[in-house]
Amino acid sequence: MIAGGPESGVQKYTNVKRWFPDNERMSEKTNPFESLQEQIGDAAAYIDVDDSVLERLKNPERVLETNLSVELDDGSMGVFRAYRSQFNGDRGPYKGGIRYHPGVTRDEVKALSGWMVYKCAVVDIPYGGGKGGIVIDPREYSADELERITRAFAVELRPFIGEDRDIPAPDVNTGQREMNWIKDTYETLENTTEPGVITGKAIDSGGSRGRVEATGRSTMLTAREAFEYLGEGIEGATVAVQGYGNAGSIAARLLESELGAEIVAVSDSSGAVYNPEGLDPEAVKAHKNETGAVSGYEGASEELTNEELLTLDVDLLVPAALENAIDGDLAREVKADVIVEAANGPLTPAADDVLTDRDVFVVPDILANAGGVTVSYFEWVQNRQRFYWTEERVNEELERHIVEAFEGLVDCYETFELPNFRTAAYVVAVNRVLSAAEEGGSWP
Ligand code: NAD
Repeated sequence: MIAGGPESGVQKYTNVKRWFPDNERMSEKTNPFESLQEQIGDAAAYIDVDDSVLERLKNPERVLETNLSVELDDGSMGVFRAYRSQFNGDRGPYKGGIRYHPGVTRDEVKALSGWMVYKCAVVDIPYGGGKGGIVIDPREYSADELERITRAFAVELRPFIGEDRDIPAPDVNTGQREMNWIKDTYETLENTTEPGVITGKAIDSGGSRGRVEATGRSTMLTAREAFEYLGEGIEGATVAVQGYGNAGSIAARLLESELGAEIVAVSDSSGAVYNPEGLDPEAVKAHKNETGAVSGYEGASEELTNEELLTLDVDLLVPAALENAIDGDLAREVKADVIVEAANGPLTPAADDVLTDRDVFVVPDILANAGGVTVSYFEWVQNRQRFYWTEERVNEELERHIVEAFEGLVDCYETFELPNFRTAAYVVAVNRVLSAAEEGGSWP
């Protein structure tokens, strides 16, 4: 199914710009849904696929848009816009997180749900892709209010989700607490026990060991594989991490503790802290837990802006915050040799082009942060079997999936002389989704 380049034969790495007439891509795209569609389009240049089928691969099957009306603590009524996008179910039930953030938009949720489809395909787990979000700044609401808002969302989601239909999970500003509320609401309304309706739960509610660490762990594993592939050692490599939540802080900790890399800078929405002699990732996390921010950490020699962090002269850069962290202009200033995308969509397509030209090796989000959904899959398997694994087994299985996926991308990247690793990831993933769709046929 994989064809040669768009004109004839396999496109050469050095000829990549020929695809984009007049460097059209240099007109910056920051709508994540447009970025997703461009990424799929880039891969489709190597795949025999009809335009009509391609349209299907680039657009969600359905999007639920709703308004949640919830009584607030002061007796007033709050109304919150919420979305759930079910992008593609050819390979299995829709799967993907739920984000609470004031910047959530319909297009962002659509993009994130599409990235889930191709992420699940890259690591070859039997899911399609979905994503949800509520437009809210959770810091402005009490725990009781957040519980009512989450349960109201679960009521809206109930007809669309289920362990064989659509399985939500945590994302930015949601975690075990929100997952437990959604599971409880669903099970109460359905009068059943169905822990596999949602993943990322607390262990006592049917969660999996290793799930909390999984996204950071796959970030660490893919960084290790990338350095090895490039013939460089990661021990002692300097690292900057943008975003110090679940993905970023755990990636930093594991890069240091398991691979001996040196974390020199980390940031969150408050700003960045830097020490060329190295930061202690656990101590920075403890400081953030205590004060709510990485800023002010006493082991730092300097405070930086986020932009300064992204352009530090380090060996490895890990964007682990939100989309569009690096655009085409900033990409020209990046000094890292390797970027591992713990966040979803941190590079715009223009940034990708610049970094490809500059020979910066980028491990794309749909592989780098796929540990989260891979261990969610293990959680779902354990829920269905009512048989729970040790953390050691979870981590071993995760490593096997991630390393095999990385090796599969290397094979595709080299065989077809693709311009970059992201295109290799999409060629592999789109091809798998397409095969499933073709094997399934169409009805009516
Ligand atoms: P989180 O809420 O735990 O952490 C997000 C972090 O980013 C926070 O420290 C926040 O302060 C920081 N941040 C926000 N805006 C910033 C900015 N402009 N500059 C610097 N820092 C900023 O969220 P998370 O779960 O760690 O998710 C982070 C990214 O990883 C998202 O793109 C998410 O989609 C992706 N991801 C997460 C998982 C998971 O299992 N948690 C799985 C796959 C992908």
